[in-house]
Amino acid sequence: MRLQLISLLALSAVAAPVATAQDLLIENVTVLSPERAAPLDGYSVLIEDGRITAVSSLPLSAAENVTVIDGAGKYLTPGLMDSHHHVSFVPGMGAIGVGVAAANPELTAAYVEQQPRSLLYHGVTQILDPSPLNAWQTFEDQPVRPDFFRCGEIPTPGGYPGNQLGEGERAALSSYEIDPALEGEAARVTREIAEDGAICVKIYVEDGFGDANAWPVFDTALIRELVDAAHDYGLPVVAHANAVDMYRHALDGGVDIMAHGMWNWNWPDGEAPVVETLDRLVADAVGYMPTHMVMTGISRHMLQGTLDDPGFLNVVPPSLMAFYRAGGSDFFSEELASDFPPEMPAEEVGSILGYGVGRAQAATGYLHQRGHPILLASDCPGSPTFANHAGLCTLREMISIAEGGVSLAAVFEAGTINNVRRFGLEADYGTVVPGKIANLLLLRANPLETVEAWDSIETVILHGRPIQRESLRAGQTSSN
Ligand SMILES: [Zn+2]
Repeated sequence: MRLQLISLLALSAVAAPVATAQDLLIENVTVLSPERAAPLDGYSVLIEDGRITAVSSLPLSAAENVTVIDGAGKYLTPGLMDSHHHVSFVPGMGAIGVGVAAANPELTAAYVEQQPRSLLYHGVTQILDPSPLNAWQTFEDQPVRPDFFRCGEIPTPGGYPGNQLGEGERAALSSYEIDPALEGEAARVTREIAEDGAICVKIYVEDGFGDANAWPVFDTALIRELVDAAHDYGLPVVAHANAVDMYRHALDGGVDIMAHGMWNWNWPDGEAPVVETLDRLVADAVGYMPTHMVMTGISRHMLQGTLDDPGFLNVVPPSLMAFYRAGGSDFFSEELASDFPPEMPAEEVGSILGYGVGRAQAATGYLHQRGHPILLASDCPGSPTFANHAGLCTLREMISIAEGGVSLAAVFEAGTINNVRRFGLEADYGTVVPGKIANLLLLRANPLETVEAWDSIETVILHGRPIQRESLRAGQTSSN
């Protein structure tokens, strides 16, 4: 039974999303692969049937029907993996199938069609969705898309995140239910998650936002039980937590990965044992998803000029941009402003909400100094903000962790080898090595010299198929 399950999971991990893979030869290119200390200049890379078959310093001869790309002056890297992206949420609207998104089906459809293209436009060739809800199959049905992986999420009964939703919404957003009062629930639910093909388990360690601090959370014993049961199926446990006390609780439970950076420190500064807790994370080798874009996106939703960001033109369907400009997402501005005095200007609310970003950057920079591997994980959109769009958000997350003091080599590792190692995908992704799936990027600039080089993509190679970046821009398809 166990063996069958594992082979099924392996199959689902390598299924190609696009029609026919073609053979491809990239010549005279500089290969950057995260396991190598130095770039390989003037190399040739051969791709057959969607996988890398040769990486050579000598010219390779190829059959007649092989497409040849001249890589002179360009950089070939593995495609990026963002291990915290939500496919079932529309920026500026919220969850697909409920509320504002349900009331605007055409705009939702335009986003759903553009989302995988925007991810690829920014070089994201693999994503992991920790709480895929009800629309991930629609994502998988898109004709050209990143390879998709998901966790099974177990909301806390009576707690987060279900307590943020109306009753109808809760019913519409399917997930795995657990009754902590019953025996054997951890084993039952993790088995269900594994058999459904998820590659991780997501739990929530959250006792409240702002002034709230009495929401129920799983006790340490139950978290431990869930971790043990998940490990029986080879699944890591990812825990939502972003405050010092919740981090400690999750660490007590032995979770494998923190789904958020630590930005929620007690006021005032200096008292909270932030460093102690981060040191414990390092000692326990627990994975760290910075997700700086959560607070950045909330802050930018309130700030003027956010919609004038030129980066949005590449990833936001024009119809959706018109909806934002007409005030369609004002419901979220009002919700954010409601926590502040009514006379406070939106700019001030936005800058207060952005305060956590500097803390998140400081925590990420500290972990990097300690030699702890960072995971590229943006958590986009992360809220109903209109500021966090697929793909662009991953790029901004990389820029933000670099600003936090993470070296460019470590940013590169965060987006490639670190995520695939953490989630058991190393056989297929993360390096430019024969045998791996040919999800690759051809860049015009060197990402080890500037983080903005990740925005210089010329060609995205998906299972061996070269796609010109420009063809993926928003507004290039009929319906958006
Ligand atoms: Zn999330």
